[in-house]
Amino acid sequence: MLKIAIKQVEQELFGSIKEPQRQLFSRKWWYGRLMREVLKSSHFKTQMFRFVDVFPSLNRKADIPVFIKEYFGEDKATLRLLTEGVGLLPSALTSIFVTKQMKEMSRLFIIGEDTSTALPILKKMRKNKVGFTLDLLGEAVLSETEAERYQEKYLQLIKDLSEAANGWPDEVCIDQDDRGAIPKVNISIKVSALDSLIHAAAWDNSKARIKAKLRPILSAAIKAAVFINIDMEQYVYKSLVLEAFKELIEESEFRQYPHFGIVIQAYLQDAMKDLQKLVACKHLGSLTIRLVKGAYWDHELLFAEQRNWPCPVYRNKAETDQNFNSCANFILKSYPYLRLAVASHNTQSIAAAVHLAHVHRVPQKALEIQMLYGMSEAFQSALIQKDLRFREYCPMGKAVPGMAYLVRRLLENTSNESFLRQQSSVQDNSDNNSNGPRRNILRNSRSSNRCLQFKNIGVLDFAILENRKKFQNAIEEWEKCLAIEVPIIVNGETKWSDKKYQRENPSKLDQLIANISLASEEDCERAVRIAKSSLTIWSQKKLEERSQLLLHIADSLEKKRYSLAALQVLEVGKSWESADADVCEAIDFCRYYAMEIIRIASPHLTDKVLGEESYALWRARGVAVVIAPWNFPLAILTGMVSACLVTGNTLCIKPAEQSSVTAYELMKILLKCGVPKNVVHFLPGLGEVAGAYLAGHKDISLVAFTGSKEVGHCILNKALPLHGASSLKKCVVEMGGKNAIIVDDSADLDLAVEGVMESAFGFQGQKCSACSRVFVADSIHKRFTERLIWMVDSMPFGDAKKPESRIGPVIDKPAMEKIRKYIDLGKKTARMLTKEKDIQNAYFISPTIFTDVPEDSPLLWEEIFGPVLVLHTFKDLDEAVELANASEFALTGGFYSRSPSRIRYVRENFLVGNLYINRSCTGAIVKRHPFGGFKMSGLGSKAGGPDYLKQFMNPIVITENTVRRGGFSPHLV
Ligand code: NAD
Repeated sequence: MLKIAIKQVEQELFGSIKEPQRQLFSRKWWYGRLMREVLKSSHFKTQMFRFVDVFPSLNRKADIPVFIKEYFGEDKATLRLLTEGVGLLPSALTSIFVTKQMKEMSRLFIIGEDTSTALPILKKMRKNKVGFTLDLLGEAVLSETEAERYQEKYLQLIKDLSEAANGWPDEVCIDQDDRGAIPKVNISIKVSALDSLIHAAAWDNSKARIKAKLRPILSAAIKAAVFINIDMEQYVYKSLVLEAFKELIEESEFRQYPHFGIVIQAYLQDAMKDLQKLVACKHLGSLTIRLVKGAYWDHELLFAEQRNWPCPVYRNKAETDQNFNSCANFILKSYPYLRLAVASHNTQSIAAAVHLAHVHRVPQKALEIQMLYGMSEAFQSALIQKDLRFREYCPMGKAVPGMAYLVRRLLENTSNESFLRQQSSVQDNSDNNSNGPRRNILRNSRSSNRCLQFKNIGVLDFAILENRKKFQNAIEEWEKCLAIEVPIIVNGETKWSDKKYQRENPSKLDQLIANISLASEEDCERAVRIAKSSLTIWSQKKLEERSQLLLHIADSLEKKRYSLAALQVLEVGKSWESADADVCEAIDFCRYYAMEIIRIASPHLTDKVLGEESYALWRARGVAVVIAPWNFPLAILTGMVSACLVTGNTLCIKPAEQSSVTAYELMKILLKCGVPKNVVHFLPGLGEVAGAYLAGHKDISLVAFTGSKEVGHCILNKALPLHGASSLKKCVVEMGGKNAIIVDDSADLDLAVEGVMESAFGFQGQKCSACSRVFVADSIHKRFTERLIWMVDSMPFGDAKKPESRIGPVIDKPAMEKIRKYIDLGKKTARMLTKEKDIQNAYFISPTIFTDVPEDSPLLWEEIFGPVLVLHTFKDLDEAVELANASEFALTGGFYSRSPSRIRYVRENFLVGNLYINRSCTGAIVKRHPFGGFKMSGLGSKAGGPDYLKQFMNPIVITENTVRRGGFSPHLV
């Protein structure tokens, strides 16, 4: 019944529109024709939208033809699409023509660059009985400098438009609802533009920030009688924005105002719950809900998939449509407190809302229909004729930052599940059965997940209150039981030593974290002896048994994930997110190696030959020592330990002094999970005592080391066979880096600035993968540097246990002093771009950027392992690549560019272990990014990759002549 009624309303409203789809794309012929071509070819679509995306960065005219060739030129069929498709010869694709068309295209969706260009158009729209809501376009806000500018712009917009509106004649059709006059000026605000530091872990702090940024805007809006609508963007911000908005409009100053609104996205599975929360709000004026389906579908899907989080959006359009109607119904039922603004181009959804309004006796004037500027031509007159209040969402801003918006609109227009594409059920239902790209993404990801045996564990979603609470509680629990006494454990026996290492919290020096018993050479000797005697039994255990044990360890780590992460916050000064990521990596290592051992080490026939059987298999090397660094206190240690164990080696663990409590936690888990007490021994101690002794021991067959180049070299020096040694030592040695990121002039600056910031200053630059040199193309370096410095200056620093601190301490006093020496050198020999800040009672170093650094300066070549970045400009890409490669290290590297040919060049010529393109150069994930370098960065095969475990075993081949007098036996496999 309902369906029939909706169909009828749809017919009444839109039946007179002829071929709305064609009209949608016909406003400008080039764009219209192009879009139709785009709909036919997904390859052309990708190239086209990528070109639109890069276009604004092409500052030199000469670049335009080059990029056209790059994007379209190599594929003749595509070039034909671009030219013949729109009735042109290829020669017509000149810079001037393309520039003109691109500007035209952006004008289709962007109302103007500023108020002066937008105002005449707004006036004209109003005359045609079309209301507006204005949205400010801009670059992503990365710093507080940028955020403050945005806030000023919104305030200025309120002022300018409300002044202009004084002179506008009343248009009853759009300026009145069922209550009477409503504001002529309507502004849409993006919260992400007002604050650069919103993040879920720092929930209360972020909420307070959002409210503080919005307050002056809402006050100004009330004074000027302007409508304010809060837009919704990515799901990560959603709950935070909703909560902040709700609390804000309950404040006395805003409680009565009836002209606030907020967006609800019907593609979100929790949209209805959010509406229920809004209804419960103590705001006394009415509240407008702009109901949209949602514009970030692909992003949400990929974001959730990459983190192994539940997908927040409905996976198919029919469910979204259904939810849209349910939400519309709820809003209408909640009239007059809630008022519905239907923001959709889908005629069926609009018809459903109109019909439901009628059912709930909501006056038609209380309902508003909203569409996107530049995409509503086909509908306008039909809706206005039926006396429906109609408003266009009008983005305003420069074409450059506007392109991101444009690409989103283009993607929306041409996606197979696009609401625009499927706008008219009256017209065409054929798409409902299509296998569009989104469905393909789903199908591929589902099926590939099915074939995988291994799945990375998802990091914590701190938008969930329970997760934040558990993390906070875990920190408090640890603080209650400080200082921890860390023992030596040999053969399961706990021993306390008189010689102790005291570890303090690097964020709070008067908080003692642990007293660590230091293992002596005698302790090490005893451990090696027992490990040697237990080798045969352990190494002969079934692969499956050792693999199962690792899975069991992974489960135990997972059960203790909050506690293990919270400990790292106190012990080494990691932020909540990076501590959690470290625990995830540890769990991943165990699960991945548990799978890998079966694949690698199960015996397999080398070849099929009659009369002979040769099996290849792998066996343990012997007694191993694991010597670990502190910077990934659990992950790296667990990675090396689990690799030793699962491959059948017995082992001694020598953790880093600074992170011995975390290592002790791991040791307890190993024993609890059933690793025999004579197989694994725990020897906390000084590197130069316990570490050096174990690495040089004649009965150690395998050294798994991760740490600095200097210590790595010491260990390699000790690898030569000693008198009486039972075998040559295998050294799996992973060392430092002096990693560079190159940013060319076609790069997406929003992405590049953020990526360099994260790579250089995440965990205070104390990652082997951290970026410590950035090479920026000459033509963009000014803007890049300015934005990066703003971003650095905005970063709150402080105690790592406070989730709002983005910059925490460095690890200890020697590290702080070493880093300071480099900074002092930089101050004398180069130009420092950042300001120094100080925190007492912590090992704190401000993020520091130097430029004009002499080419032979140690700042450019030595690993500093702290928050120090050197910025260099370049003219030619090959010069930048050459400088990047000139380091003695080869660990990670990064490249930001939108030029396919330059990306190809860099792929081939930038010589590092892990190269990252258009993303940060840190944050490798087990299996997805097997990790490790070469040159002075390491010897091993990549951790978390398919060859890693082989280093922990000896390869064996067993050949048997199967010919007997009676013939030969067939192969077993
Ligand atoms: P470090 O080299 O000072 O210490 C690493 C470990 O070696 C510690 O357990 C230490 O006690 C021990 N050690 C010190 N002297 C020793 C000696 N003479 N003999 C044997 N063992 C000794 O490194 P760190 O400060 O703990 O960690 C930071 C370094 O690790 C950086 O150089 C970083 O780049 C590197 N790192 C590399 C990777 C990688 O995968 N390539 C990963 C993390 C860290």
